[in-house]
Amino acid sequence: MEKLLLSEEGIFPITKDERGEAIDSTPNTGITTSGTVQGEGKFAGTPSLFIRLAGCNLRCIWDKGGDKYTLCDTPLSVFGNIDSISYSIEKIISIVKNNIGNIKHVVITGGEPMLQAKLLAPLCRQLKKHFGLYITIETNGTIFDNELAKEVDLFSISPKLSATNPIPEKLKEFGLTETEVHKSHNKKRINIQNLQSYIDFSTIHNRSQQLKFVVTKRSDDIEIKEDFLKKLTGWKEEDIFIMPLGATKEELKLFTPIALEMAIINGWRFSPRMHIELFNASLGV
Ligand code: SF4
Repeated sequence: MEKLLLSEEGIFPITKDERGEAIDSTPNTGITTSGTVQGEGKFAGTPSLFIRLAGCNLRCIWDKGGDKYTLCDTPLSVFGNIDSISYSIEKIISIVKNNIGNIKHVVITGGEPMLQAKLLAPLCRQLKKHFGLYITIETNGTIFDNELAKEVDLFSISPKLSATNPIPEKLKEFGLTETEVHKSHNKKRINIQNLQSYIDFSTIHNRSQQLKFVVTKRSDDIEIKEDFLKKLTGWKEEDIFIMPLGATKEELKLFTPIALEMAIINGWRFSPRMHIELFNASLGV
């Protein structure tokens, strides 16, 4: 039986296992119930259960300015033991069943979930069939899969700007050696054809989509317009979100004024990172 590879966070936050038995520890949200809220984009604040998949086709190392760098904000999905946790669709459905309560939204995130699109399509079909859930896929937008797209309600796409390019001399500082994935990052991170496929699919099939850009400096709006928006058609201003870099409260404080100003100047939307504001850098929240 084929299985999906999940990151160490897996399905979260949960209080019961696939047999319906109570899990020993309380979720890192600090509350005793399963579920959390979506922290970003147009559904910020909405009760949701998350499924985090392992593996990514990019290798973001963010340039924060002032010769300061930080790894991707979900390093366990990208740099962790990405083939260590594998769940069958049946197991995932059982865990969701025992933890979903009155939650209506499931968010499939990563890493890059589209790498496992072939198995995600039947999973999403079953999530809809059994629980009627609203399904969001969070993706970097470099991979599109028509069969999976049919099962998704919101495409939450976060294209990566040049500040994410992994600079070879910085890899060592994070204990990493340069691989082909690092070398191809800059070329792969912009895939206009696949981004256009997401927009076109949403328009034709009446699905929702958002383009969520994470920013670190005031000039990032030039890159957003020149490298992405001017090359794409059919997007709506209300679906463009600007979000500050911030895997911790301290980072968020630093980059929020830049994101806020950029959103207002350009008539785009500001996205909070509510889960960082609520839970700081905790896992599984
Ligand atoms: S695309 Fe997302 S998950 Fe992949 S390395 Fe970049 S920030 Fe991390």
